[in-house]
Amino acid sequence: MYLSHMNYREVENYLQKSDTILIPVGSLENHGLHMPLGTDSLIPDHIAKLLNERSDLLIAPAINYGATDDLTGFAGTVSIGTEGLISLLRAVCDQLYNYGFRHLMILNGHGGNTAAIQAVGSHLYRKGAYLAILNWWLMAGQINPEWAGGHGGGEETAAVMAVDPGLIKKEYLNLPEGIRNDLGDDLPYGAWTSLQYKGVSVTVPRAIKDITDNGWLVHSFKGDLPTRATAEWGKEMLEATADYIADFGAHFSQTKLPPVR
Ligand SMILES: [Zn+2]
Repeated sequence: MYLSHMNYREVENYLQKSDTILIPVGSLENHGLHMPLGTDSLIPDHIAKLLNERSDLLIAPAINYGATDDLTGFAGTVSIGTEGLISLLRAVCDQLYNYGFRHLMILNGHGGNTAAIQAVGSHLYRKGAYLAILNWWLMAGQINPEWAGGHGGGEETAAVMAVDPGLIKKEYLNLPEGIRNDLGDDLPYGAWTSLQYKGVSVTVPRAIKDITDNGWLVHSFKGDLPTRATAEWGKEMLEATADYIADFGAHFSQTKLPPVR
């Protein structure tokens, strides 16, 4: 059920039976030339649609701007930063809390959003509610390890193919990542914004644009090439993830609430 399709009396009736609601949270950010900027929103929206077909869970409108400071500089990427996302998500969750929602589920499409979502989860917990963080790409990679992947790699490419194969620009699937050691060859690139020095990973927050002109980074998931993606993989993966969330939500919604702290 979509919250945006209901009237207020239907919401009051829903709250008589359940205090659970799911909010998709995405991002608008570069994923390389082969993928659309909306990748991290399109996928959670599609999982929510599959969920709606197999569950009575209430689905709130998505928040499709996120915290993606590392990727600004690639035209079209818009970041509201961690503080911006905390502020927006907390306002939405607090309002839902005021109506009686106590079991909130965030269906997240972007790793950079996690810090903000966790902060809002802690805030709600102190008010006697629970927030579950559902990072779809990590969940899918645990449901089937062959599906695991990183930013712009095979996993996300397969997922977007399942949403709409026309959104993948096939002519760019074979481009190399084009990663350079922007901090010098003594401090070689590691993964995302980290470097590797003497076998130890050190993170230095900076623009991905300084590291690669292409903008898809699967360095930490070697072998997760976008060329291995298929629409069949994406379809099976997103359906399995929706099935999992439907089952999880049924149990999560029954948990006894924590005290106000
Ligand atoms: Zn992504």
